[in-house]
Amino acid sequence: MHLILLGAPGSGKGTQASRIVSELGYLHVSTGDLLRNEIRKESELGKRVSAVINSGQLVDDSLVLELLKANCTLEDNVYIFDGFPRNIEQAKALDNKVLTGHQSKAIYFKLDLGLLTERLVNRRMCKDCGAIYNLVSKAPKKSGVCDNCNSSNLYQRPDDHEDTVKNRLQVFSDTINPVLEFYEGKGDLVVVDASQGADDVFGHIKGQIQG
Ligand code: AMP
Repeated sequence: MHLILLGAPGSGKGTQASRIVSELGYLHVSTGDLLRNEIRKESELGKRVSAVINSGQLVDDSLVLELLKANCTLEDNVYIFDGFPRNIEQAKALDNKVLTGHQSKAIYFKLDLGLLTERLVNRRMCKDCGAIYNLVSKAPKKSGVCDNCNSSNLYQRPDDHEDTVKNRLQVFSDTINPVLEFYEGKGDLVVVDASQGADDVFGHIKGQIQG
């Protein structure tokens, strides 16, 4: 069964996704990662989307859908969809144009949005292995060095600066409710309390996957 992770930026989707991949054998597809990769490659698409991403707004639906479709083969794999859908149009497109005939469950990482600004502005990522840190709650053991791969390439995402974070959270709260209603209506919605520790959140998700 494919998993669709829903939640505000900073609600822990990326952290849980890497654990689901390493412990349960899923493949992870994150539309944010795919878009950032296009920006890094300086592709035509990357040039078109970088200003939108750095402002905290959403990229055009059809463009993200095409990128997603080009980066997953559902026949032989089970996927975690992270960062897609972001609105009701994308939720319907995922259902009709990507997941046709496949079973899925949507997992909503429920969290008080007031907690997230601080989480996001303190988030740091490893450029080399993708590990995620938080300077307050999960700082690397040695400042500026990744615990996982020893790289000193820890960085702050440009859209994790405070001004952009506010826009991203606003966009999230403006668009999420119809998406939740859509999955609830299909009987496919699981709500997880994302204010718990990462181990508890993972335990809940694992219980849902393994039935
Ligand atoms: P994320 O890494 O999921 O927080 O996404 C970072 C940024 O990429 C978002 O703020 C959007 O600008 C863009 N983005 C990612 N996924 C989508 C999507 N499904 N639809 C539109 N824009 C997206």
